[in-house]
Amino acid sequence: MRKILAAALFLTLAAIVIPVLSVLTEGDKKPEVQELDLGPKVKVLNSESGQVMTLPLEEYLVGVVAAEMPAAFPAEALKAQAAAARTYTLRRMETGSSPDNPHPRAHVCTDFNHCQAWIDNEEMARRWGKAFDSNLAKIRSAVFETAGLAIYYNNALIDPVYHSTSNGRTENSEDVWGSRMPYLRSVASTWDRQSPKFRTSVEVPVEAVTALGGAGAIQQVSTGGDRELIRGLEYTSTGRLKTVQIAGRTISSIDLRKALNLPSTDLTWKVSGEKVIFRATGSGHGVGMSQYGARGMAEEGRTFEEILKHYYTGVEVKAAY
Ligand SMILES: [Zn+2]
Repeated sequence: MRKILAAALFLTLAAIVIPVLSVLTEGDKKPEVQELDLGPKVKVLNSESGQVMTLPLEEYLVGVVAAEMPAAFPAEALKAQAAAARTYTLRRMETGSSPDNPHPRAHVCTDFNHCQAWIDNEEMARRWGKAFDSNLAKIRSAVFETAGLAIYYNNALIDPVYHSTSNGRTENSEDVWGSRMPYLRSVASTWDRQSPKFRTSVEVPVEAVTALGGAGAIQQVSTGGDRELIRGLEYTSTGRLKTVQIAGRTISSIDLRKALNLPSTDLTWKVSGEKVIFRATGSGHGVGMSQYGARGMAEEGRTFEEILKHYYTGVEVKAAY
């Protein structure tokens, strides 16, 4: 028994010592450029073709960042986006083929409404034209310089939600989705005022609004009572609408935004003839990282880690593999 143990110990030591020796003997050689670890393989469902592609994580992320954030954004903003996209993907890989995954053959799909957007080099070339080479190089650097880094809260990967532009403050998760996430807290995001999407207006036919209120709303409009067609009922702590009443029917602002394709839930409106003119502040659900906020922070010289820690409360950024 003791001999076996001794042999096992010898083999273990040998396993440690031999590589160390080989490193030592190679010591006088010129150090070689370390090859980048492109990470675990991700199965990606191409929502357009229906085919499942298998891509190294870091390569996949280049196509995600290219699709999800303008390439003109500063490097640190692109790096923050890369870390968020990596975190999202690793979370999907952890969950694997859970019953609530509608595409069990793949970890993620390329539909931004469901997972996160992704484009291939051909699509990048189409969108960027002459800037293809420089944009691609910039995005590859953002991804590869953060390779392996992901965002954690209490040692668990976070759900790194993000949006285009806030209304000056991001939103608490429970005010949008009902569940309180400790790292999705409302924070100031004043940089968003510089976003082209900070204030926008959208015209919607009155019928599209009355349809949401049902028969009562249609009758109200036909009798000229359209001043009260829509009424804001509840607001969140950041001034976004929580619920509205349309001719007596209460609906959530999330449903309103979705049904009428409105930029955000920070809304004012007026009825003008056959149209309702909505004025929106910000673009997106407002939870988590603001992309235009990330741009503003990067322009002020903040790092991607500072950006992530600003928008995701109490998180750590560390190596996932
Ligand atoms: Zn999906």
